[in-house]
Amino acid sequence: MTADHVLEFPGGYTRTTGPVIGRFLTELRDGRLVGVRTGEGRTLVPPLEYDPATGDPVTGEWVEVGPAGTVTASAWVRRPLDGHPLDRPFAWALIRLDGADTALVHAVDAGNPKALPPGTRVRPVWRATRTGHITDISHFAPEVTKIVSPIRAAYKLTASPALTRFLHGVRDGIFIGGRCAVCDKVYVPYRLTCPGCGNPISEEVTLPDTGTITTFAINNLPDPRAPEVPFVSAYILLDGADIPMIALVGGIPAHEVRQGMRVRAVWVPEDERTLSMSNIKWFAPTGEPDVEL
Ligand SMILES: [Zn+2]
Repeated sequence: MTADHVLEFPGGYTRTTGPVIGRFLTELRDGRLVGVRTGEGRTLVPPLEYDPATGDPVTGEWVEVGPAGTVTASAWVRRPLDGHPLDRPFAWALIRLDGADTALVHAVDAGNPKALPPGTRVRPVWRATRTGHITDISHFAPEVTKIVSPIRAAYKLTASPALTRFLHGVRDGIFIGGRCAVCDKVYVPYRLTCPGCGNPISEEVTLPDTGTITTFAINNLPDPRAPEVPFVSAYILLDGADIPMIALVGGIPAHEVRQGMRVRAVWVPEDERTLSMSNIKWFAPTGEPDVEL
């Protein structure tokens, strides 16, 4: 036979705190966490009247601790009961406040038990109205250690005079390169200094839109610049140029692209062109015999 009993003091049960706990609770009401020093210099939080290690009375010296602290151990409460500080699953945790040598027990709102390994940093969440009770701290919450930031960079690119010249050419459907007067090499896109000898380049050269594939790659991952997958990107040596430029290859199945293949630029319609490389849809085979590289 069993019977349920409830022991309750409906009006509350008043007891005096003693000077040590009283000081702790008074500071708590003011939103501060304090500990008391022992004769050996340790700081007890929550404070005690006697040092549990030596049995000696504590010193009466008070120090502010926390408010943050470190969880040393915790127990997960899956189904909170009436009177528990939170109405959702939470942890009872031993929390060593910064500056304290002992840990106090309080609730931590951690979301899930895995989020609260020993060593987790927590901070108190205070109640708006405080009365000088340990529940003046509603609970503790883990410190913020990560955030999700949306990233978007909008920027203006100012093209160099040489690149500007080149892009104007591309808008008009021609490739503009530069010839180095010292080493006679022709570079495309147009640039103002020879990468080979460092000499300024002053001679502008207009190149045809035909060339030869020197190397290529078949790409199986989508790219916003490519119309389909798989797509081929290739180094194309324009006729008359000494260095290749990179571009897409189209108008042919990817597996049929080969080194030495002759290609010609396919331009987007004139009224769709901008000052960018997207004016070149891709390079497509000309049908001429392959070139020995
Ligand atoms: Zn040069």
